[in-house]
Amino acid sequence: MDAAARYEQLIAFLNAHLPRPVQQEELADGTFQFTGGSPGEVVARLTKASVAIEQYAVRWETPYTPVMRPRRVGLVRWRRLPESTVMNVVGQLIRGARDARLSRYVMCQLCGETKPPEWMEDHDVCQQCSASVLGPVH
Ligand SMILES: [Zn+2]
Repeated sequence: MDAAARYEQLIAFLNAHLPRPVQQEELADGTFQFTGGSPGEVVARLTKASVAIEQYAVRWETPYTPVMRPRRVGLVRWRRLPESTVMNVVGQLIRGARDARLSRYVMCQLCGETKPPEWMEDHDVCQQCSASVLGPVH
């Protein structure tokens, strides 16, 4: 199989194996970025030479500006490896990144829902509960 066909195959593989829903976006430098899960769980970046798998994470630049700051868990030079190895390794990296992300979720002590860390006001209370308990800020 030539490189173009393998590239297409990787796109299909990422779409099939990332947590749903999968959002696809082509960046200015030609990288294909996939974000799996809502809220996001795993990010994949595919180029003509490599595929990088990242754990989704958000950092607040200001209290109103969430910025996506994924943490890379692995990068595979897919053209240098046999197809089956690439699929195998990428599949495991996706699972690992997802487990790492989900392990950071926190249960809100007020509503009892499990939420990603960036939705928490502090360690115990989510932003939604915090807003409704404290009322709107004037
Ligand atoms: Zn809550």
